[in-house]
Amino acid sequence: MSKSHYLITGGAGFIGSHLSDLLLSQGAQVTVIDDFSTGRLENVAHLDGHANFHLVTGSILNEILMDKLVERVDGVLHLAAAVGVDLIVKKPLQSLATNIRGSEVVLEMAYRYRKKVLITSTSEIYGKNTNGPLKEDEDRILGSPLKSRWSYSTAKAIDEILAYTYWKEKGIPTVILRLFNTVGPRQTGAYGMVIPRFVQQALRGEPMTVYGNGKQSRCFLHVKDAIHAMTALMDLPAAAGEAFNIGSQEEVTIEGLAQRVIELTGSHSKISYLPYDEAYEEGFEDMARRLPDTSKAKRFVGFVPSMKLNDILTSVIEYYKNRGVYTVPL
Ligand code: UDP
Repeated sequence: MSKSHYLITGGAGFIGSHLSDLLLSQGAQVTVIDDFSTGRLENVAHLDGHANFHLVTGSILNEILMDKLVERVDGVLHLAAAVGVDLIVKKPLQSLATNIRGSEVVLEMAYRYRKKVLITSTSEIYGKNTNGPLKEDEDRILGSPLKSRWSYSTAKAIDEILAYTYWKEKGIPTVILRLFNTVGPRQTGAYGMVIPRFVQQALRGEPMTVYGNGKQSRCFLHVKDAIHAMTALMDLPAAAGEAFNIGSQEEVTIEGLAQRVIELTGSHSKISYLPYDEAYEEGFEDMARRLPDTSKAKRFVGFVPSMKLNDILTSVIEYYKNRGVYTVPL
């Protein structure tokens, strides 16, 4: 990716800021647009003054601004989105506007200036399909569109359809990445994500809030592995018009995760089980399991996760210990 200039939407967010670091280290120029709704200045503060880094505060819904930014770059990595189950349940309208219209603006501008776009999608696409491992062409199994979780899944599916259609019909190279539970330093627990929440609870000695019976399982990927997959797929012409699962295959139950965090932090925290209705909203549906088949990404760019869960958890624990801010609200 060296010597190119990239626009990262949502570049002050958890994943976007790590991606900015990686691209800059490869010699690229990076322009970040972020509205700081969930992005944080402190994620990119260390890049202030870097000759190849440009930070623009604004919304991807601002078409005039987006026109200018997309025109001057070689490609767009589109990460700006309303994410986190908690956020999309609490602010459904704002989430829909950002996730559907925002992506459409990105793609319209990319079409106007003929730029390659990488769209970040999500494992939520598969909905309640608990088959595992899930391949990219697996069926989507969704509940009512009146439930926030499924409207989010649908919004992201519309993004995918738009991206794919711009490729098929207009020839704009678009790549779709479906991220499965990406975690690591800089992720906050404010929007529901389980690992930063558990780590902060353990460090504070508070009860670990396991939702449901804790038997549901997830696979967690370190952000470092996710961003390497992103740059590799952005660089690969053959990835255009394709969707890729990006995730780990090391499964853990949420109850097991809580226990591991307690062990790794040496915390005295106890596990406390909370019904989904209380944690989120009445009638909330969770997935029992979510395991990706990542053989396609392996075939295309040699994607293999490099970090195991214990190392991933240790990196998050270190992050929160160093910040010393586990005394502020989640
Ligand atoms: N979860 C939990 N306690 C929390 C936050 C999340 O038990 O404080 C559970 C959540 O219900 C889900 C899993 O942890 O089963 C992963 O949640 P997260 O929001 O991180 O990711 P996603 O639900 O999108 O997989």
